[in-house]
Amino acid sequence: ADINKDSDRMHIIHVTAEMAPIAKVGGLGDVVTGLARACLSRGHTVEIMLPFYECIQKQQIKDLALITTYESYQDGNWVLTNAYRGEVSGIPVVFIEPSNHFFKGQFVYGGSYNELEAYLFFSRACLEWMQVTATQPDIIHVHEWQAGALPLLYWDMYHYLSLKKPRIVLTIHNMEHYGECSQEQLSKSGLDGSIYATIDKAIDDRTIGHNPERLSLLKGGIVYSNAVVTVSPTYLKETLCTGWLASTLLRNRDKYFGVLNGIDTAMWNPATDSFLPVKFNAQKPEGKKLCKYYVQRGLGLALEGTLDGNHLPDIACKVPLVVCITRLVPQKGLHLISHAIKRVEELGGQMVILGKASDVRVEREFEGLAKLHNQGPSTRILLMFSEELSHMLYAAADMVLVPSMYEPCGLSQMIGMRYGAVPVVRMTGGLADTVFDMDDQSNHDRANGFVFEGIDEGSLNWALDRAFAHYRDKADEWNGIIRKVMEVDNSWNNTAGKYVEIYNSVRVRL
Ligand code: ADP
Repeated sequence: ADINKDSDRMHIIHVTAEMAPIAKVGGLGDVVTGLARACLSRGHTVEIMLPFYECIQKQQIKDLALITTYESYQDGNWVLTNAYRGEVSGIPVVFIEPSNHFFKGQFVYGGSYNELEAYLFFSRACLEWMQVTATQPDIIHVHEWQAGALPLLYWDMYHYLSLKKPRIVLTIHNMEHYGECSQEQLSKSGLDGSIYATIDKAIDDRTIGHNPERLSLLKGGIVYSNAVVTVSPTYLKETLCTGWLASTLLRNRDKYFGVLNGIDTAMWNPATDSFLPVKFNAQKPEGKKLCKYYVQRGLGLALEGTLDGNHLPDIACKVPLVVCITRLVPQKGLHLISHAIKRVEELGGQMVILGKASDVRVEREFEGLAKLHNQGPSTRILLMFSEELSHMLYAAADMVLVPSMYEPCGLSQMIGMRYGAVPVVRMTGGLADTVFDMDDQSNHDRANGFVFEGIDEGSLNWALDRAFAHYRDKADEWNGIIRKVMEVDNSWNNTAGKYVEIYNSVRVRL
């Protein structure tokens, strides 16, 4: 027997709003692809079901073919729907394409259709597809509020029809997105929305007096799933203590687990990454310096020497490059990100921000900062989403900054580490589970970055100052730190097994 394969093979279907790289907005897309690939390589049968967003680039899908035309219910009508099959990054994907206006538009989110109703439709259309094709996986793994109604639809409808075998696992990547829904909207899926308007089902507890008109698909999903997972052990603890879902999660504590996300080490590999002009690895990190040079030159930042052929003169690297790659939303610590620009400049470093804002006011604020700084020698603020640039920047970075107010898991610090960027992070959620302060003796061997606790500028200064001091005063040690962070194993190989255990604990053998 192959020791890398699980002996007990399962069939797992993910139902998700995102998948990297074809429909990725944030970490959700990376997690689905990474976990699916890890389970495939352990010998399981894995498929991903995804809305066929109009913005998906079809040339990125291998062997795309129409497989089923069927009808799925929506607000009193049966909507003609196409299911396509194709392969993305080696993973089989089923694309659901309704014939109405859902999922049309230039982007994954923010189209001119009603998002809640579109994902309610999608959730039911996935189950309907399984029913019409007699597909009965062991596990339906749903993600976020977008698929939160699927467990309700499964247990209160399709399980009474022909789907008997599947059990449902829900992963919550971010508790702040709760899928607010009225009874009436939920009824459009064909369920009777009024049945779910109780505290022990889907009433949104945040409203005083518990407004029965306000339901939360995320809460409903928690109540109706066989197991609920969130993306780091520390975030699990935080969500049991604070936040509006705490009481629901406490009531469901027995089936609630914290499993740290991994990163897809095939997609994120500095030794083979086709976006990088020069590859490198922990044993041969020299290429990283060249990546930094190319980024500095490409972005017009001040250079510390000139390239001689493919060799950098052995100049003293005194100018640390800090990168921050993030969605620009309050969760990510916007005031600390903009403060970091100032502090890094004062300390004589360079900083590049790659970020996309979804709120116009935030966009304007950062556009203002970009105008102010982008002509200078030390700061670049790039307001866009670019997979390619993100790879280049992680490779070029000496430090990766993640100053989040809260962070369920965080991939950016893990990706940064794999590319030899030392993390500077706020101690919260998954950041606290993956980054351990260099100056804290109790961290011993696992020390791998710089951590601060407060949400004020002084706290961030303290961590940045220490990181810069290490970089400049202990150059030899710094090379050791780079090697060490590159060797940290945050891969899915390490954590996918925990998901397999959870799948096994809830599956049934008919
Ligand atoms: P979240 O899921 O909250 O967005 P994570 O840290 O878990 O945060 O995941 C973010 C992912 O999205 C990382 O892969 C990061 O590199 C990527 N990312 C975020 N913003 C951008 C951007 N503007 N351009 C390219 N990639 C980005």
